Amino acid sequence: MIKILNAEPSNYSSEARRILLSIGELHESRLTRDELLKCLGGFDVLIVRLGIQVDRDLISSSPRLKAIVTATTGLDHIDTEVASKQGVAVLSLRGESEFLRSIHATAEHTWALLLALIRDIPAAAAAVKRGEWNRDQFRGTELFGKILGIVGYGRIGQRVGAYGQAFGMQTKVYDPGKVDFPPQVDKYDSLKDLLNAADVISLHVPLNENTKTLMSYAEFEIMKKGALLINTSRGGVVDEEALLKALETGRLGGAALDVVEGEPTFPDGKTRLLVEYAKAHANLIITPHIGGATFESMEKTEIFMANKLKTFLSDLTNRVMEPKHSDLSKD
Ligand code: NAD
Repeated sequence: MIKILNAEPSNYSSEARRILLSIGELHESRLTRDELLKCLGGFDVLIVRLGIQVDRDLISSSPRLKAIVTATTGLDHIDTEVASKQGVAVLSLRGESEFLRSIHATAEHTWALLLALIRDIPAAAAAVKRGEWNRDQFRGTELFGKILGIVGYGRIGQRVGAYGQAFGMQTKVYDPGKVDFPPQVDKYDSLKDLLNAADVISLHVPLNENTKTLMSYAEFEIMKKGALLINTSRGGVVDEEALLKALETGRLGGAALDVVEGEPTFPDGKTRLLVEYAKAHANLIITPHIGGATFESMEKTEIFMANKLKTFLSDLTNRVMEPKHSDLSKD
């Protein structure tokens, strides 16, 4: 009997649960890391969101483990190298381009962050709650005619670019890994040139060794003075010390982040300093990695992943039961 552990089961799709129950024995429990280390050995499948770092120790603690399931495209919360060495499949949304075209949540949130930042919406709403009504204090800036610089023109970057065009922005992109660009976007061959041209930079790259701290001191220096930075990709793509300096010196007009390096907890260090800055300054908005977290997208992605697991396990069983080629030749 396949034993599945869903270690982040809060508000899990009921349809996805039904599919998981049809596969095997389902255990749903929000466990601490220590508890997980102790019990993972008894499971064939581990399901996580982004709250657990599935590292070497955790993966190695379970020789029985066959698959780690995550309804995400980013995989930096899983040690995929160790998983692969141990023969554990990592099932995710990465590369599921056809299905992902139906998921709009993060691109919409990117836009929510940009509008909130440029029109000072959190501070203006808070002022009304305090009984104030001061129009002059909250004069904003328009997006129409401005240059939107998109770093990483994949699924989310393309959608964000399309929203930008609806707002009358000029879309310019940098993505060395992409070959086809629609005629309405200007493709840049260097990140430096894009940073130098854009009024708003929006980051949509995966976190890997090439993109870690892609935005650091030198990059902020190149950006137009007063430009805005939006990051809904991964916290590690931005050097948080450099970002704080760029905000403090006025080099950057503002930033809105859905992801930070120290998430989900940041008791000290660079992320804590950013959060402290955000408490005192309206030009930094931070949301707790909610880009993909809409009812629609969570439901759709959890069902998709449950079905993907079902197919994976049935393929695995078929492979184990298939007679070997040499056996066939004997007949
Ligand atoms: P995608 O794979 O469709 O697109 C990523 C693009 O980045 C690709 O076109 C790739 O060529 C490009 N790229 C890679 N390295 C680059 C570099 N150094 N410079 C410029 N471009 C580069 O991915 P996606 O679905 O658009 O998602 C982008 C990222 O957003 C994910 O990797 C994930 O980390 C993050 N994400 C966040 C949330 C959230 O809740 N905030 C939700 C979904 C995804």
